[in-house]
Amino acid sequence: MKRIPVIDLSRCTECQGCVEVAPEVFRYNDNTGMMEVVELPDYPAVLVDEAIKDCPEDCIFWQETSE
Ligand code: SF4
Repeated sequence: MKRIPVIDLSRCTECQGCVEVAPEVFRYNDNTGMMEVVELPDYPAVLVDEAIKDCPEDCIFWQETSE
């Protein structure tokens, strides 16, 4: 079981706080005008947990995948 961070884009305000905390995981997509999660084989749990904790909209969460 693998865990991936997911952003609830309906609540995200693109404040980019998560990019400051974990730039290797989160980025702003200029084309879509929305935040996105970078595809990585493994995610740094400590940094993602910090981004989750710091997100002002509480819209980042872990999702388990069966990959
Ligand atoms: S910290 Fe939260 S609200 Fe801000 S850009 Fe990241 S996901 Fe969106």
